[in-house]
Amino acid sequence: MQIAKHSVVSMNYTLKNDQGQVMDTSVGREPLVYLHGAGNIIPGLEAALDGKVQGDNVAVRIAPENAYGVRNPALMQRVPKASFQGVPEIKPGMQFRAQGPQGQVQVVTVTAIEGDTVTVDANHPLAGIPLNFEVSIVEVRTATAEEISHGHVHGAGGQDHGHEHGHDHDHH
Ligand code: ZN
Repeated sequence: MQIAKHSVVSMNYTLKNDQGQVMDTSVGREPLVYLHGAGNIIPGLEAALDGKVQGDNVAVRIAPENAYGVRNPALMQRVPKASFQGVPEIKPGMQFRAQGPQGQVQVVTVTAIEGDTVTVDANHPLAGIPLNFEVSIVEVRTATAEEISHGHVHGAGGQDHGHEHGHDHDHH
């Protein structure tokens, strides 16, 4: 069957940047399983996989606008070192959960430290980067009604509501 809205897609993928460096891959792990048409994956990749079938190989370069967005300089912030209470040593590359302007939790990455000032970046680590995906479609099936109502896949490779890493659904 062809990948369409409410297909459950199982795929292997490798993600490289324009320099050819592997940034993420499912090779050596279980295939990635997602619900098509539910915003589970970035829009550019979802569009590239639409209509594909089991066994297809897809290579696609996705612009930041259709991936993790362009970098927003306003998301770079300089904060006093004193605001990192309980952290013995701040280093570039460290990530923290912080509260965004609307109270939402966001992950920020330390990019620089100068004296008592720490620069943090709340952009997604892949924001502003064109993404080169090589995908092979392992399996395509029809989603169950429950998966469609939840907006994600259950079972192998999907959400397991029975475990502590299950998510924040409360409508079971
Ligand atoms: Zn669910």
